[in-house]
Amino acid sequence: MKLSLLACILIAAGLNTAVVAAQQAEHAQAAVEPEHQHDHNYQHDHEHDRDDDDMPTLGAHVHGHAVLTLILEGNEMQLAFQAAAQSIVGFEHKPNTAEQHQEVAAAIAVFNQGGWFTLNADANCELVVAEASTDLTEMQANKGHADFYANYQLLCQRPARLTELQLPVFNLVPALEKIDVQWIVNGQQGAARTTLTNSTVRLR
Ligand SMILES: [Zn+2]
Repeated sequence: MKLSLLACILIAAGLNTAVVAAQQAEHAQAAVEPEHQHDHNYQHDHEHDRDDDDMPTLGAHVHGHAVLTLILEGNEMQLAFQAAAQSIVGFEHKPNTAEQHQEVAAAIAVFNQGGWFTLNADANCELVVAEASTDLTEMQANKGHADFYANYQLLCQRPARLTELQLPVFNLVPALEKIDVQWIVNGQQGAARTTLTNSTVRLR
């Protein structure tokens, strides 16, 4: 959800026009400051992160958390995953070292392969489209927060037998602590919070 990032920046910019604590003003300024501020921002990464966490919670952006939506209609399934980039690659600034570029590329590769989730084999679902992306590769400057997205389309030969979603992603991405899963399977809906030790969702 790119809106949540945008809303976050807009709110920060709005606060800047009111009388606010110096820290918040500094954050808002950092969000729109051009390139010459980069080094300064990086030096203050930790402090900066704490400021960001104090902002009002908007949408899904919580470090360590992700949201996953599964929708099955007839044979067609759509999966939408969104997480704070911090939860996936461990940072939220524009990658600036070879290692950080590698981290981002590796994460996108993992999510494009789709092996981070499995459905019970009976349903015979096949991945048709996988599309992973992140704000990290698009940001012109360090804007404080960035998200990671992955969207999928699957075709299920026996959708009536779909009963279970498993999330081995917790083994692949250690910084990810929780995924809130919402599902709609042919009109029936449910929700579950998953973690490393509780990574199976019953879909019926
Ligand atoms: Zn963040």
